[in-house]
Amino acid sequence: MMNFQNAAFEFAVGTSSGLPLCSLPEIVFSGRSNVGKSSMINRLVGRKSLARTSSSPGKTATINFYRLGFCRFVDLPGYGYARVSKADKTRWAELVQGYFEAGRDARLVVQIVDMRRPPTEDDWGMIGYLQQKEIPFLVAASKSDKLNVTERASQNVCLTDLFSRRNIPYVAFSARNGEGVEHLRSVILASCRE
Ligand code: GDP
Repeated sequence: MMNFQNAAFEFAVGTSSGLPLCSLPEIVFSGRSNVGKSSMINRLVGRKSLARTSSSPGKTATINFYRLGFCRFVDLPGYGYARVSKADKTRWAELVQGYFEAGRDARLVVQIVDMRRPPTEDDWGMIGYLQQKEIPFLVAASKSDKLNVTERASQNVCLTDLFSRRNIPYVAFSARNGEGVEHLRSVILASCRE
């Protein structure tokens, strides 16, 4: 059965040499700190606190793995937090690149950006990296419920245009009101079936 229930935390990895064997398709979640990554994971699996939400940004970066029946969710450490040291940034890059270069079965990256503002330089850096590595990804614009109807409509047009010009699939998402949840689930299922 390919459902999103029965998700369980499996392990956290702090160095790329500690990555476990890859035995399942992996769905990867990426975005800057505080963008709503944990809330998205929790919403997709219908659980309140599988992934920790709003922990202190800049805490020790780990990649967290969650086991679902048909795949793993891979929660990359957030980036773009202003007050991290150069050493922490280097460690983040080593860990994330180590993950993507380990020959794992990464089926899809859900690259999360905040719907309320244009993608950051770090967001574009991550998108460029995924394109260069030819890793399948889509962009999910988080916290869509935080915009009023007018703002949401204009920002949606803006982001749709921005990403469609680059042939990047895009979806608006809200962990609060559930916008985009079913769409994202069906994209995840489809990439695991390939
Ligand atoms: P992470 O650091 O990327 O894992 O972000 P979190 O999931 O911890 O979310 C950061 C903050 O944004 C928390 O206060 C969440 O409650 C809030 N948040 C996340 N997603 C949404 C959303 O879709 N709507 C609203 N209104 N708030 C959200």
